[in-house]
Amino acid sequence: MSIVDAKEMLLKATEEKYAVGAFNCTNLIQMEAVVAAAVEKKAPLIIQASVAPSKFLSPGVIAAIYRTLAESAPIPICLHLDHCTDVEFCKECADAGYTNIMIDASKQPFEENIAQTRQMCEYCHASGDISVEGELGTVSGVEDQIKVAEDEAQLCDPGQALEFVDRTGVDIFAPAIGTAHGVYKTKNPKLDFDRLAKIAELINGSSPRVPLVIHGGTGLKPDVAQKLVSLGGSKFNVSTGLKHTLIDTTYDYISSHRDEYNPGKIDASVKEAIKGRIEYWIDLLGCTGKA
Ligand SMILES: [Zn+2]
Repeated sequence: MSIVDAKEMLLKATEEKYAVGAFNCTNLIQMEAVVAAAVEKKAPLIIQASVAPSKFLSPGVIAAIYRTLAESAPIPICLHLDHCTDVEFCKECADAGYTNIMIDASKQPFEENIAQTRQMCEYCHASGDISVEGELGTVSGVEDQIKVAEDEAQLCDPGQALEFVDRTGVDIFAPAIGTAHGVYKTKNPKLDFDRLAKIAELINGSSPRVPLVIHGGTGLKPDVAQKLVSLGGSKFNVSTGLKHTLIDTTYDYISSHRDEYNPGKIDASVKEAIKGRIEYWIDLLGCTGKA
């Protein structure tokens, strides 16, 4: 039961008003940590890999680790390719066994974004149960190789959002509503809650149809994150915070065990620290016990 595509998992979340955590991983230890946390919390899970780690390890290796972990876990788990601007690499990951693909053509003109997203949907839907996430408007900050300055970020127009969803056939939709990748530069980022509510009403108002994604979860305050979920966000992405946990924990461990040469102990401390962060997010998003 453990290998599933994201659409079905997220439609249930949309209906029941909680969000599934989508956690970015770059290696095996992180993937083990997020799975261990989700199993303990009995929560559905989305493992995300962005383009750089997918290329570094290769899509085949990431997919093989995912399959091994997911097949022995008693919860549903997806493997998602995060923010890929390259249609050919999206196809490579879909062929390798990723269950969800994000084609990010959000920096392209509207019609080109529609064309690329629709192309990915046709490819992934013909290949089986692979779902596709598309984005409209842009999220500021840096995610992997994609950099968007704060003043260049464009929020998603609700009317265009509906048109985008209808014309692409996309399974999961990420509207830009003012969240940012990385650590927020201001204490109170300007999030457009009304815009999210309007988009959720237009797309999922009569019945859940296309689950909505909140990008840039790391820097959001707990009450803000929960508000975004209550307004219709059912996939909640966390990346930067987990990178900080990995690097800070590694640094702290090595600093206090400078004479020890046992990589397994570093891995164990990183795994424990990341597991703790994931459990925090799963509880916050209302996802505990939903598997
Ligand atoms: Zn993102």
